[in-house]
Amino acid sequence: MAATTCPTCQGKGVIGCKNCNGSGQTGNLLIGYSKCSRCGGLGEHACPNCRGTGEVGGAK
Ligand SMILES: [Zn+2]
Ligand SMILES: [Zn+2]
Repeated sequence: MAATTCPTCQGKGVIGCKNCNGSGQTGNLLIGYSKCSRCGGLGEHACPNCRGTGEVGGAK
């Protein structure tokens, strides 16, 4: 039952978005920037490993 700090997000529950490298925007000067669809412009999103809880394990 002991939960362990998620190694993916170091227990933060969120991880930096690789899609936009944390900038919250994708694109470039040529095509223009748009809000990153992966993180919704936040630059980070809920950790897929722990689903945003910051802990893994415990459940069976
Ligand atoms: Zn993003
Ligand atoms: Zn995590």
